[in-house]
Amino acid sequence: MIHFETLLDLVRSYSPEADLELLRRAYVFSALEHKGQVRHSGEPYLTHPLAVAFILAGMRLDVVAVAAGLLHDVVEDTLTTPERIAELFGPEIAHVVEGVTKIGAISFSSSEERQAENFRKMLLAMVDDIRVVLVKLADRLHNMRTLHHLPDERRTKIAQETLDIYAPIANRLGMSKIKNELEELAFRYLEPRAYEALRSRVEAKRKHADSVIEELTRTLKAKLSEAQVPIIQLDGRIKRLYSIHQKIKRQTIDLERVYDFVALRVVTQSIKDCYAALGIIHQTWSPVPGRIKDFIAMPRPNGYQSLHTSVVSEQGFPFEVQIRTEEMHRRAEEGIAAHWKYKEGRIGDHRDERYFHWMRQLLEVQQEVRDPQEFLQNLKIDLYPEEVYIFTPKGEVKSLPRGATAVDFAYGVHTDVGHRCVGARINGKMVSLRTPLQNGDIVEIITQPGHTPSRDWLTFATTSRARSKIRHVLQAEERVRSVDLGRRLFEKEARRYGLNPKVILDSEELAAFASEYGAQKVDDLLTHIGYGKLSARTVLQKAVPAALLKEKPPDSGVVSAVKRVLRSGAAETRIKVSGTDDVLVFRAKCCNPIRGERIVGYITRGKGVSVHSASCPNVLNLMFDPDRRIEVEWDAAGVDHAPYAVRLTMQVEDRKGMLAEISARVSGINTNITTMEARTGTGGDHQARIDMTVEIKDVKHLERVVKSIKAVDGVLGVERAARA
Ligand code: MN
Repeated sequence: MIHFETLLDLVRSYSPEADLELLRRAYVFSALEHKGQVRHSGEPYLTHPLAVAFILAGMRLDVVAVAAGLLHDVVEDTLTTPERIAELFGPEIAHVVEGVTKIGAISFSSSEERQAENFRKMLLAMVDDIRVVLVKLADRLHNMRTLHHLPDERRTKIAQETLDIYAPIANRLGMSKIKNELEELAFRYLEPRAYEALRSRVEAKRKHADSVIEELTRTLKAKLSEAQVPIIQLDGRIKRLYSIHQKIKRQTIDLERVYDFVALRVVTQSIKDCYAALGIIHQTWSPVPGRIKDFIAMPRPNGYQSLHTSVVSEQGFPFEVQIRTEEMHRRAEEGIAAHWKYKEGRIGDHRDERYFHWMRQLLEVQQEVRDPQEFLQNLKIDLYPEEVYIFTPKGEVKSLPRGATAVDFAYGVHTDVGHRCVGARINGKMVSLRTPLQNGDIVEIITQPGHTPSRDWLTFATTSRARSKIRHVLQAEERVRSVDLGRRLFEKEARRYGLNPKVILDSEELAAFASEYGAQKVDDLLTHIGYGKLSARTVLQKAVPAALLKEKPPDSGVVSAVKRVLRSGAAETRIKVSGTDDVLVFRAKCCNPIRGERIVGYITRGKGVSVHSASCPNVLNLMFDPDRRIEVEWDAAGVDHAPYAVRLTMQVEDRKGMLAEISARVSGINTNITTMEARTGTGGDHQARIDMTVEIKDVKHLERVVKSIKAVDGVLGVERAARA
């Protein structure tokens, strides 16, 4: 049981300026909040935050971190809110406490290595202040130290999570002391029998090993002093049980053959002395070939530096020696230096490179900033600025690029899930597919059978996977429409000459032309017609003798109204493409043609036929490919069609009563006016402009309206505006 005064003494010892009053207030507050709560051990709950704060002080952390250690469980376990913490202790402490609470709330339950790695990344990505991680590690360390009080099942779960998540994170941050202790404790609870067996075997060897270590140290000390290589420290130790256990398991060897069962450590004053010491060691004992590693010349990616060698004593006892300077030693033991995958013997991917870059920067900063408090305060972390980590409903962790939306996740799960998704549930709440994902979100995709992607999705799908899958479907749909359109256009053309289109489509001549044209199938040829790359007539000419292509009177009567609407909202039912059925037709927005007017059709890429007024400048424009032109006509059926909105612009003399007179005339011939607006000219010529939208049935109706307006005295001109 640690006393609060001991904690204060410790903080004071490395930070005389520290605000101890703040710590005292945090302690009192924590004591009040946790009052009455007990741990499994039966001790008052307060012993836990106090121990956590003590561990943090042992890392020589700043007051914010130590205070956060005292307060780290109050938000989770009591009624206190983060706002209250901010009020009492400032935003920084509140932020750290909130961060610890947040990552404590997610629990990890997979034993798969890749999942564990994603989870670690997510955990780190959720944190923007390194002190959150440090407090969490201290919390976990104390919980592991007191794990024996917990029931069996909880014990195993926590120990596994420690081994999978927290020990590697400590390792990554270069906190080898904490990492080692976490591993030893986890090993003990996860594999109690293996642990106990190994412990007793090592124990049996300990006496002998200790005497060997003593002998070896004495010999080496003498040799080094003889060669005048000054040393700061020289000691030996038996390796940690977990590390021996790993080695035996990995190399499937026996304890006797573990080379570094025993290790000596030499701490020198300079780099030069490190190499000198290595030479002397190799003169004294036989080096094991292939076991010399120069991490001084070639530091590990995290900056770890040391010389490693394995040698065999005269008595045939193998052991490892690590040689480094004092500075290197300090960094290896407790610096925020890390190697993420090194121990696993894998080469890091580009993400690790970025991480190491960050790490190197971090180490550089550390050397410049003398005061560790200042260093921590300035250290904001964003380890994976380009990624976001989220959960599936089954608790799997997935990584996606930052900015990814629910639709990206859907495609990440499976292509079919992507195609059929209609919405998502994030943290239990229904949201749209365009919702961006946040770290730690639990995302569930809602699908509907038969649903297909919409073009709109491309505006918010960010992953290349999702985008290419969506495009693929859209292109396939477009192709189907184009084949359809191409077939109809071709059939129409054939019938104009009284030919049977089916016979021609099946003919060898057409197949020959198709392959000549580079189309694999006749369908591909039809796609080209549908896209307007080829005209139906050209194709017909290739497949049929010229003699058969004597022009017959146009429109042999096979006409019917366009019925099918292929794209909702866009289709027009009042225009037909002569001789064909079921083609998607729409009035072009640029000229907005009305019934009775001369019109032309233009085959668009996969969207059907757009209908322009024959006088529309776009039709006359060269960008219109003549091959894509097609004849269209107004549907002759005598149905009472909905009127078109037509906008008229007129120039009039600016006189009183003009508006009233014009509207009276127009209404007088049974025409609805939907808007009317007058503007007086600025040129001082006493003219005005009137804009009016009227509902028009057809071109004759329009002519009557224009005529009636022109008949008004003082109207100088009437024009139809391009857009309604
Ligand atoms: Mn805790």
